[in-house]
Order: sequence, then structure tokens, then C-alpha cells
Amino acid sequence: MILPGATLGMLGGGQLGRMFTTAAQTMGYTVVVLDPDTNSPAGIIADQHICAKYTDEAALQQLADLCDAVTTEFENIPAATLAYLEAKTIVHPSSQALSKTQNRIIEKEFITSLGIAVAPFAAIRSMQDIDAIEASFQLPAIIKVANFGYDGKGQVVCHTMDDVRQAFQSLGEVECVLEQRINLECEISTVLARSESGDITNYPVAENVHVNGILHATTVPSSVLEEHAQTAIKMADTIAEGLGYVGIMAVEFFISQEGNVIANEIAPRPHNSGHFTLDACETSQFEQQVRMLCGLPSGNCELKSPVVMINILGDVWGSSTPHWDTLLSQPQNKLHLYGKKEARAGRKMGHFNVLAPSIEQAAEIAEQSFGALKAN
Ligand code: ADP
Ligand code: MG
Repeated sequence: MILPGATLGMLGGGQLGRMFTTAAQTMGYTVVVLDPDTNSPAGIIADQHICAKYTDEAALQQLADLCDAVTTEFENIPAATLAYLEAKTIVHPSSQALSKTQNRIIEKEFITSLGIAVAPFAAIRSMQDIDAIEASFQLPAIIKVANFGYDGKGQVVCHTMDDVRQAFQSLGEVECVLEQRINLECEISTVLARSESGDITNYPVAENVHVNGILHATTVPSSVLEEHAQTAIKMADTIAEGLGYVGIMAVEFFISQEGNVIANEIAPRPHNSGHFTLDACETSQFEQQVRMLCGLPSGNCELKSPVVMINILGDVWGSSTPHWDTLLSQPQNKLHLYGKKEARAGRKMGHFNVLAPSIEQAAEIAEQSFGALKAN
């Protein structure tokens, strides 16, 4: 076990890294964050911030020298960076596990190989690939860049094959995946923790509403059939086992109108849809991340209260700051801001959790508080 007093490394300085840093520091660990941004949310609160690129060997050497173990908040850390660190210190999740989650085509092929359904898809690397599937691919579809997409960025909905060609061109003809658009009943996700010895603990399934491809609200408990929730949890566990995963991992799922549970994507890290655990569970996903990294037993994942989580995007800033007074005058609202200086449309600035005796009450307070937040 790596115990308090030890030093933990975090690759990536975003809000997920910041909430890990807070959890680790609370438990008595020292945290070093590596991130190229001088003002990163995690870097500004870490015990030490190494401000360098993920490919800077001297910086990686420094991180390895300082840290008893290293983890990440960001799936696009170059595999070579993790491999370099793995030779020198403890790293979870592994470069090998991460490499299966960085590219949507590799990810979908891996999930399929485990016998788990994904939306019907085709790899698109050239215009010829589009010609080849023209007769058989069922539209409408969504074309997505295979690498580095997030929050709905790098995705275009296509109704005809000419739309697909045009979208592929507008995306710069980079490697893409074309995915059949599923008629969604709803979207859910699960967060799990897997230890080095292979023990898995699951948080309750969360129900997610996205607006413009970005998560807006998460509700727990979800309204899906228990059978669907259990299927999703089993699938996520199978994926974690298949990856030999150690740490916190999330899987996003679609529930189709036909009642199928379809895996969407894997997040090899804590997940936005797991932020409810900060206030509504005994152990947050970030404390759990510290526990898995340090070889500590997993904490209790049970839900203490119905909860609705609402994301706060830069869009709610106007010429002044949002109406925090209104939000905070409602004591059920638990506010979390990430320390980002500049509010931009679509940028995740924070979130709030609403705890209430019932989901209906939590949802009502959540929507009312969110509606009152926007500055003029
Ligand atoms: P990101 O990496 O940006 O989160 P996702 O693949 O999860 O990308 O897509 C973002 C959102 O877009 C999903 O949560 C869902 O709402 C919608 N979406 C993506 N793919 C599909 C699909 N095949 N069918 C229906 N909706 C989809
Ligand atoms: Mg997603």
C-alpha cells in the first residue's frame, strides 16, 4: 500500500485532475501535476506543478523521481509517455489499457471482440471507404473523428452519403468512424473501480441528458429498467477485465427505443457523469481513484440520497458572473467550481449537485436553480 505522506503524480491538469488532487491532499498525500498550461485547474492547487509538455523527457524524469505512483485524468496522454513512466514508477491505468481507448475504431473493435454491442460502424480513412459502404450502410449516421474528439466536437450528423463525403472533407479527411445513429430511449453510464487483484466495485448507474453533444444533467438513481442497469454494469465489468484495468473507469451506454443496451465509449478515468459521487456517495470517484492507485481497499459506493448533477458551462456567463447568490441560497445545491479564469461557450466551468428526498424534488430544484443562474 502507498500510504499518506507519499507523493502521487497526475498527468493532466483539468478539472478531473483538480478533484483528484483535492481528494489526495485531504487524505494526506502530496500531489505533483504535469500539464503544459500555466493556469491549469489542477496545477494551481497542486503541491507542485511541472509545467511542460507530455512528451518532455526531462519533465517526465522529474515526475518519476518525485512520485511513488502516477495516474491520469486524460485519455489522450501519448502511450510513449506512460510507457516511459512505467519503466520508472507505478502507473495506473497502464499504457496498454489506455491505448485501447484513445482511438474510436480500436475501441469499438475491442468492445465488439468481447461480445458487447456497439452501434453499427465503419472505419473511414479515405473517400474510397465511403464508396465501398454506400450501398449497405444504414442512414442517418454520425461521422466522428477517430482521435481527440470530446464533448461532441469533431462530429457531424449525416442523412445522405453525400453528407458523409462533405463531412469527411470538412473534418480534414482525418481518420474517422461512421456510426449508425441510434434512436435513443435514453443514455446511461457506469463508473467502476478495479483493483490490482481484480476486485471491482460499481457505482449506481447514472442517467444522462446531453445538450449539443455535451453532458447537461445526470440523475441517480436512473429511471431505466433494473435489467438494463444490470446489463450495463456487467458489460462495463467485462470491459475492465478485458483491459486488465486498474483504477477508475467509466462506460457510456445508449438504451435504444427497441430496448437494447449499446456501449458508446470508454473513459479510462473518472467521468463527468460520476460527479454526483462527490456529494451523494460515501466515497467520491476521486477518493476511489486515490484508493485504487495506492492499493487501498475500495470505499463504499452506495448512494446516500437521490441526486441530480447539473453542469455549469461558460455559456451562463454574460457581461457579469452568474448569479451564485441565488444558487447558494438553496441549501440543497452543492456547488463545485474548477478555478478556470476564462469562461467560453461550451467550456466546463463547474457543476452543482442537488440532493433531495426524491428525484422529482431534486430535478425541480436543479432546473429552477440552473434557470436562475445565467447572468445578463
Ligand atoms: P464524445 O467523445 O464527444 O462524448 P460521444 O460519442 O459520446 O462523443 O457522443 C456525444 C453524444 O452524441 C452522445 O452522448 C449522444 O448524445 C450523441 N451520440 C453520439 N453517437 C450517437 C449515436 N450513434 N446515436 C445516437 N446518438 C449519438
Ligand atoms: Mg461521450
